[in-house]
Amino acid sequence: MSRRAELAAGLAAVRERVAGACAEAGRDVDEVTLVVVTKFFPASDVCLLADLGVTDVGENRHQEAQAKAEECADLGLRWHFIGGLQSNKAAAVAAYSSVVESVDRAKLVGPLARGAAGREQPMDVLLQVSLDPPGREGRAGVDPDDLGALASRVEQEQDLRLRGLMAVAPLGEDPATAFARLAEVRAAFVAEHPAATWLSAGMSGDLEHAVRLGATHVRIGSAVLGSRPTGK
Ligand SMILES: *Cc1c(COP(=O)(O)O)cnc(C)c1O
Repeated sequence: MSRRAELAAGLAAVRERVAGACAEAGRDVDEVTLVVVTKFFPASDVCLLADLGVTDVGENRHQEAQAKAEECADLGLRWHFIGGLQSNKAAAVAAYSSVVESVDRAKLVGPLARGAAGREQPMDVLLQVSLDPPGREGRAGVDPDDLGALASRVEQEQDLRLRGLMAVAPLGEDPATAFARLAEVRAAFVAEHPAATWLSAGMSGDLEHAVRLGATHVRIGSAVLGSRPTGK
């Protein structure tokens, strides 16, 4: 099978899963954007995906993302940065990203705004919220109690547009439970920030749970592209 055919098959399977989850949840399939996570895979795959109708791609490491965004600049893709951010790289990340999903502390906001300055459209920002129990050494993300202050900081920047929340289900917990908690956090957040309705949640292993609990964006890597070369 050609690489194109492999990717087409992966995409078709994922789109079918998203459609099935939407149908079950009584949601319109257009409410869920598929972000294909291309980390560790070559720019040639990104080209094939664009040709297969993918509009949104996700990357989690700055150098790799920057190189691919440059190589694929003519494809009209929206690049989502979904990885851990260093403040000294944030401005550079903003230069090629349409969406930065992993904003989890105030220190990133100034550099992101600087990097996004001068565009026609502000850069879309999601706040990454931690779903780990308090005190647990876990994945990145802001504590739900601190979301309000971080949101206010983003809203001070005219080159940034606060769009909503992003989360990763913690390892070792049923994603249904974690995403149910996320749905509560999100409801409270949207009550305070009515325009920030995006919710990026759901990966290859748990997208159905995320769609059921209101995700507007799912970030899918291995189910489309296959296992990552390094197993990361
Ligand atoms: C790698 C990654 C994904 C995609 O994971 P898969 O399990 O391959 O679908 C989604 N979100 C984040 C934040 C990631 O780093």
